[in-house]
Amino acid sequence: MNRIRNAMTVDVEDYFQVQAFAQCIDRKDWDAFPRRVDANTNRILDQFGAAGVKATFFTLGWVAQRFPELIRRIVADGHELASHGWDHTRADTQDPEAFRADVRRTRALLEDTGGTAVAGYRAATFSVGRRNMWVFPILRQEGYVYSSSINPIRHDLYGMPDAPRVPFRPAADGVVELPMTTVRLFGRNWPCSGGGYFRLLPTVLYRTGLDRVNRHDRQPGIFYFHPWEVDPGQPRIPNAGWKSRLRHYTNLSRMGADLDKLLRDFEWDRMDRVYASVIAGAAGG
Ligand SMILES: [Zn+2]
Repeated sequence: MNRIRNAMTVDVEDYFQVQAFAQCIDRKDWDAFPRRVDANTNRILDQFGAAGVKATFFTLGWVAQRFPELIRRIVADGHELASHGWDHTRADTQDPEAFRADVRRTRALLEDTGGTAVAGYRAATFSVGRRNMWVFPILRQEGYVYSSSINPIRHDLYGMPDAPRVPFRPAADGVVELPMTTVRLFGRNWPCSGGGYFRLLPTVLYRTGLDRVNRHDRQPGIFYFHPWEVDPGQPRIPNAGWKSRLRHYTNLSRMGADLDKLLRDFEWDRMDRVYASVIAGAAGG
């Protein structure tokens, strides 16, 4: 039987903050949109509670500032609170000073609000790669212990296809990186970490891929999704391009049920527990 524990993760951001809409929505207009992240995340917390699953919530500082009760519930329910940066600015558009200020401010607010230590970081849109490997020492200096910011695939918005597919330390004086899950097949890496692919493709592809990673590679997988993905009633964004609309709106109505099945059929836990030995080894080494 496949009993490897996989990491369940949620990137806590609202529907108007995603990269797909960055071209048509200005950050300064965010406060004008009806917010749905609070209700959607609470719904996910209910779902995880019913399934007995603990997860890691990579949360924007912007969200924590507006919904402190949500942050406290994430912690009270036994989940791991982690950082997704302040306002979803891509790390590869920041210089080291701006990046440091961003991750420092976010961690401080999350820790103050949640009353718990924050060890994990995930860059917006997996925006860490060859050009900005300097993020890893900065994350360590700022008190983080691990990152989950590299996706070893080819994609038009992100990706570092030649990155290791398993946990590694990109810099000797930096945090450990837990890269997003891929399946190695036909000489290339295929995405197997959820996100838009989970909704756009038949879910059997994801499930087969994760099973292969568990049984063949003997590695845990990392799954990620967003609160807006379980919300078919969210307001539609006018002026978004066809590719963004396809990625954002396809199969939102069946996501809740697909997720329920996934929670039942595989073993899931918080990132910091699934990778406890890797993280401890990296901290001590
Ligand atoms: Zn994000």
